Amino acid sequence: MEIDRLGIHDSVAAVFPPERLREFLASETHGGIDVAVIGDDGLGGVDGVVTLEHRDAFRDLEWIHSIQAGIDRFPLEALDERGVVLTNSTGIHGRSIGETVAGYLLAFARRLHDHVAAGERREWNRPEWDEAFTLSGTTACIVGTGTLGRGVADVVGSLGVRTVGVRRSPDSLPEFEEMYATETLHEAIAGPEFVVATVPLTADTEGLFDRAAFEAMAPEARFVNVARGGVVDEPALVAALESGSIAGAALDVFETEPLPESSPLWGFEEVIVTPHCGAYTRDYYRDVGEIVADNVVRIERDGEFRNRVV
Ligand code: NAD
Repeated sequence: MEIDRLGIHDSVAAVFPPERLREFLASETHGGIDVAVIGDDGLGGVDGVVTLEHRDAFRDLEWIHSIQAGIDRFPLEALDERGVVLTNSTGIHGRSIGETVAGYLLAFARRLHDHVAAGERREWNRPEWDEAFTLSGTTACIVGTGTLGRGVADVVGSLGVRTVGVRRSPDSLPEFEEMYATETLHEAIAGPEFVVATVPLTADTEGLFDRAAFEAMAPEARFVNVARGGVVDEPALVAALESGSIAGAALDVFETEPLPESSPLWGFEEVIVTPHCGAYTRDYYRDVGEIVADNVVRIERDGEFRNRVV
């Protein structure tokens, strides 16, 4: 494969200025790659593209790099059939998502979201005597033990939270104090104060958090989703929040994004909604740039791509 010119699709502007990544890749330190920021009409002049969104026309390119870890929106089979290489950005989001989840947990424990909401109404409202708690000694069950899961375990573990993991094999990992296999998910989520979804959206994980899963959780449990909306049966989550079978949720991802104004999820005091930005950091373009620059070197060397999906 030869990549003479690489495009940065302007859809990446939702996460960082495309020009920043262009300057990063074009610099001598990173190989001086011939790179241009393009829109949908600029695809003719490039062999590969770095992108947030997918376009059908990408099927005529040699290489697509997704600036996200999740590749559920790309037509994997069609790309494979046409010989298009797809790489993703897994490996870079552990710390940012870990700190976002720590923020959610701290908000719930220290009641910060209540204070922000009361402040908007200029009200001096103290919590009930038994509402606030400390994270030390609580347990988080983290479902999915890849980059995100380990990053979350690392950061919340440093705040004194006991970390339990759920993965396809129950083999232990250093970031987790206990490990369960996915088949025993309901057993793993039965006790912890926090249940955190960090699995990719696949045929196996679609709707993994359904009515039975929410019923298995403790009534004081808060559910956190930083994975993909599709891993949750959203009506079942709303029903669990309404009935009090769980205590709350912090959600960064949704079945439909942006979350529609009519969604009942906006209406709960104990639900924190963030607009799919849990992995945002001002260094995002650098982290993506390192993977892209590495792959450009690899294409020339032996074609062994880093983070190859297809
Ligand atoms: P990763 O590839 O490093 O890890 C995914 C892990 O999930 C792997 O360990 C894999 O073995 C495991 N897994 C797959 N199927 C499973 C199953 N059925 N049961 C249990 N474990 C299973 O990916 P990552 O970087 O950790 O990202 C995970 C997902 O999180 C992405 O696919 C993406 O959808 C989402 N994500 C969201 C954001 C955000 O902004 N909120 C940011 C990054 C990633």
